Amino acid sequence: MKGLAMLRIGEIGWIEKDRPACGPRDAIVKPLALAPCTSDIHTVWEGAIGDRHNLILGHEALGIVDEVGNEVRDFKPGDRVIVPAITPDWDSEAAQRGFPSQTGGPLGGWKFSNFKDGVFAEFFHVNLADNNLAHLPKGMSPEAGVMLPDMLSTGFMGAENARIEIGATVAVIGIGPVGLSAIAGAKLRGAGRIFAVGTRPAAVTVAKEYGATDIISYKDGDTADQILDRTGGAGVDAVIVAGGSPDILMDAVKMAKAGSVISNINYFGKGVGEQDILPIPRAGWGFGMASKDIATGLCPGGRVRMERLAEVVMHGRMDPALMATHVFKGFDKLEEALLLMKEKPRDLIKPVVLVEQ
Ligand code: NAD
Ligand code: ZN
Repeated sequence: MKGLAMLRIGEIGWIEKDRPACGPRDAIVKPLALAPCTSDIHTVWEGAIGDRHNLILGHEALGIVDEVGNEVRDFKPGDRVIVPAITPDWDSEAAQRGFPSQTGGPLGGWKFSNFKDGVFAEFFHVNLADNNLAHLPKGMSPEAGVMLPDMLSTGFMGAENARIEIGATVAVIGIGPVGLSAIAGAKLRGAGRIFAVGTRPAAVTVAKEYGATDIISYKDGDTADQILDRTGGAGVDAVIVAGGSPDILMDAVKMAKAGSVISNINYFGKGVGEQDILPIPRAGWGFGMASKDIATGLCPGGRVRMERLAEVVMHGRMDPALMATHVFKGFDKLEEALLLMKEKPRDLIKPVVLVEQ
């Protein structure tokens, strides 16, 4: 079978591999819709998680089940499915403690394109099919559905981890597809005022649609100062960090109130200096005593999560398809779509590839 792989740091290419084998509780799935992710860019071109050789990329997919193991109960060949980006080992110690995304070590639930072949292939393997697949609801478009495995799950987690109370003031830094999903999540959690920090016109339009009440541009000066000004010096109850370089936590801490949560969902592909650190402002963080919590998390995966996200979409709470600005047709267009994600033209939010089956 054919797949689009990371050949080594900084290089991608098409490769041939054997079709994966199916274990008794697993499934082999063919892609129906695929989306490249900024995380693929960090992985390949920044070497953020280390070198990988001939590893098939991709972790955002809808698919059609091609084969199931003999212990799989709820899925059969031909079923259309949502495939979560994160496919935990649900019987692990971390899952039992409530952190399934971190099974088997930090980020261990993230298997596709991390330590096993990803979904940018003619066939891919899903562990624990009954736990890690969800049926694609009839009537959900592929452009909407393919946003669930990572964009909605991660963005909504950003809002969930931010402990947003009804009426809270929230700032979302970075309005790519992850930040936009976080804005939608903040609105669903009951936020009052939502500041969106970003400038690209296509993203600003969707940010307003998803619930942003104020748009903040870095071109108009220091973004934290602008938010402090607009809140009479008070700052915000929650900051969701969904973009920016390592010093972005400096801004986030500065605009956060006492009692706030800085909910980071950004993937820092690199840090600062030889020690590879992320800076936090000492005085702004009350010398370590300011009651400004910093939360982190990896996209939640699994079947129930996908089913709940599908409920949000099928009941019209938000339309994820608004983020699909560039839609390609055909598996062969994957490389072009991935390179587009790397180049990030100003009118891009998220590229999607529809695969004919
Ligand atoms: P994106 O690049 O499309 O969006 C990030 C945006 O932030 C860009 O528009 C960029 O211009 C903007 N930005 C950069 N510096 C900024 C600043 N100082 N102030 C305001 N905006 C700034 O990326 P995306 O696809 O939306 O993903 C966002 C991040 O989330 C990436 O790092 C990605 O790898 C990560 N991610 C994390 C998880 C997770 O599980 N935690 C899952 C998926 C993606
Ligand atoms: Zn992703």
